[in-house]
Amino acid sequence: MSAQTAPAAEASAADRVAENNRAGQMRALEARAFRGPSIYAYRRVIRMTLDLGELEAYPTSKLGDFTDRLIETIPTLDEHTCSYGVPGGFVQRLREGTWLGHVLRCGWSSRSCRKISGAPL
Ligand SMILES: [Zn+2]
Repeated sequence: MSAQTAPAAEASAADRVAENNRAGQMRALEARAFRGPSIYAYRRVIRMTLDLGELEAYPTSKLGDFTDRLIETIPTLDEHTCSYGVPGGFVQRLREGTWLGHVLRCGWSSRSCRKISGAPL
C-alpha cells in the first residue's frame, strides 16, 4: 500500500513543477551569498539566477501602472542613479521598459527598499 502511495506523491510533486513551468512563473534557479570580496564585488552580495518565464515578454513598459505603483511604494526610488548615472535614471529606465530581474536588483539596492526590509544601509 505504501509502495503505491510514494510513487503517487512523487508524481504529484512532478506535476506541480510542470504546472508551474507551464504557467510561466518567475523562478529563482540559484541564489548564493558572498560574504566578502568576490568576482562580482568587493562588498557582500547575493547573486541570483532567475528564470523570468512568461514575464520575459513583459518589460515594465508593458505592465500597465506597475512603475507608478512601485514609485508610490518606494517614493525615493527616483534618487537611484542606475542606467544613466543621474538621479531619476532608474525611474526613466522603468518607464522606457526594463526586465523584472533588473527591478529586483536595483529596487533592492535602493536605500528605501533596504530600509523598509531592515537590511543594513
Ligand atoms: Zn539598474
